Amino acid sequence: MKRVVIVGSGVGGSVTANLLAKKAEKLEEDIEITVINNKDYIFYEPGLLYLIFNRMHEKELKRPLNSILNPKVKLIIDEATKIDAENNTVVTKNGKVEYDYLVVATGAKVVPEELPGLKEGGDWFYTLEGAKRLREKLAKIRKGRIVVGVAGIPHKCPVAPVEVTLMLHDYLKMRGVRDNVEIFYTYPIQRLHSLEKVAELAKKLYDEKGIKYETFFNITEVDAEKKKIITLEGSEVEYDIFIAIPPHKGADLIFNSGIGDNGGWVKTHRNTLKVEGFDNIYALGDATNLPVSKAGSVAHFEAEVVVENIVGDIEGFGVVKNYNGEAFCFIETGFNEATYIKFDFDNPPVPVKPSKLIHYTKIAYNRLFWLTARGVM
Ligand SMILES: Cc1cc2nc3c(=O)[nH]c(=O)nc-3n(C[C@H](O)[C@H](O)[C@H](O)COP(=O)(O)OP(=O)(O)OC[C@H]3O[C@@H](n4cnc5c(N)ncnc54)[C@H](O)[C@@H]3O)c2cc1C
Repeated sequence: MKRVVIVGSGVGGSVTANLLAKKAEKLEEDIEITVINNKDYIFYEPGLLYLIFNRMHEKELKRPLNSILNPKVKLIIDEATKIDAENNTVVTKNGKVEYDYLVVATGAKVVPEELPGLKEGGDWFYTLEGAKRLREKLAKIRKGRIVVGVAGIPHKCPVAPVEVTLMLHDYLKMRGVRDNVEIFYTYPIQRLHSLEKVAELAKKLYDEKGIKYETFFNITEVDAEKKKIITLEGSEVEYDIFIAIPPHKGADLIFNSGIGDNGGWVKTHRNTLKVEGFDNIYALGDATNLPVSKAGSVAHFEAEVVVENIVGDIEGFGVVKNYNGEAFCFIETGFNEATYIKFDFDNPPVPVKPSKLIHYTKIAYNRLFWLTARGVM
């Protein structure tokens, strides 16, 4: 019997557990699958972008994990504190779990406290509490300036800053206050987005909609009292609401286990998804140090590779599938239209023309996500 332990049951961990449980039915060797997660539910983060504009509600974004995971998967609700790789053991707050194969899927966490003044002076939609607070402020603003700014890279959902800006434009128009509220988008590098074609699309749409912007905007401090953002390049921009994409880092577990880089991102082989230096430990999703988007779709594509490779190894064939950087992201370009990008390590993304159909496909996916987590689609 082989024991597979998965730490973290967000998108990547849940899909891995469910796909593996299905695959295990066909194998000679028995596989015991254990998932360790520090909360008893799975959370649909993309919904936060809709929650701030009252287009989705808190209750729609959560499902109990025991309704998502295959009944054959053993679920432990506990915090993993260290991977003791020498002894093939995960140490948790309340015990120890031994493994033959380990999958690290602990995601990324936001750390607004790491940028001086951000916690006191900024807002964000990257956590449920942050999104609810921001929703209140957006519902009340009648005039002034809203700044959107990226306060750290890498961050989850790289296209979210562009989406929130374009949705904000439609939201303020709907409320009849757009003429009195300036939208000011900022980005740290020389163009409006790290993906060249997304930057071009954003520029075209921002110019059409009268959205102002500044590039080379590396935020070093937020002056909460004066409501001012200060950058490395010497800019000082005043705001009424500052929608920040907060800095991110990996889970404490990664720092404690010596398998990550300075940001706490697990050093992962870009094709096999094995953790550097280990043959029986894999990493996927936001937790890795791979140069791919921190996106649910990436975690999903990677889960398929990890499952194939664990099964391949159990059956004695070794690595049977490579990950090639596959990613897919919808991009909302307002309340009524969206586009999407599809890319991998060799093929950069090119957004298609925004349409209503793509927007409604995304809205449908927001409801169907739970099928993805269950490993059904
Ligand atoms: C506002 C927003 C919008 C987004 N929009 C999109 C989108 O449109 N499309 C898209 O593809 N992606 C989007 N994303 C990104 C997407 O949500 C993440 O990339 C995805 O959730 C990553 O999956 P994961 O399994 O790697 O990590 P997660 O889903 O974060 O899961 C990690 C799990 O590990 C648990 N955990 C962490 N540490 C421990 C520990 N020590 N012990 C036990 N459990 C632990 C966590 O509680 C969590 O359950 C968005 C994200 C945000 C914040």
